[in-house]
Amino acid sequence: MGRNNYISLDPREIAYTDLRSRVKDAIDLAVVQARKSNGGYRHGSVLFRGPRVLGLGHNELRHVSWVTSLPGDAGDTNLTDWNVHAEVSCLHNVRKDLTAGADMVVVRIGRSGAIRLSQPCSRCLRTVTRQGVRRVYYSITEDLYGRIDLAALDLPRGGRSRGSGSPLD
Ligand SMILES: [Zn+2]
Repeated sequence: MGRNNYISLDPREIAYTDLRSRVKDAIDLAVVQARKSNGGYRHGSVLFRGPRVLGLGHNELRHVSWVTSLPGDAGDTNLTDWNVHAEVSCLHNVRKDLTAGADMVVVRIGRSGAIRLSQPCSRCLRTVTRQGVRRVYYSITEDLYGRIDLAALDLPRGGRSRGSGSPLD
């Protein structure tokens, strides 16, 4: 099936022209962020509440270098690049007490700079939900966006949870 990385949901699709101005402003900022990505895919993300921008993020390949400092470790078998997704990168740049009730935008740009699909992966959705984010808008095409109301998802909020049953079914 190949879609196990995504939580099954039925996002609401909204035409770009119907988005509120504050969301469009956040999208513009997210596109600028996406251009800063240093990995294969260029995603940018913005956390905002009303007109206030709370945080910015982009896809980042972070070189995990601690293993190379081990004495006698000349190989590269444990060396890796860790891809920090734009949504999580964004949250890293926000004060923890500001995330609850905020909205997030995430976009992807292709090689030509055109807007492409940027549906959040399940790991990011869980992370932003846990931090109390209210709503995520993501790009589908230049003209179409998806909106996910996180409160409607049956995901753990506000800290650790053991979960129950099969939350992905
Ligand atoms: Zn992700």
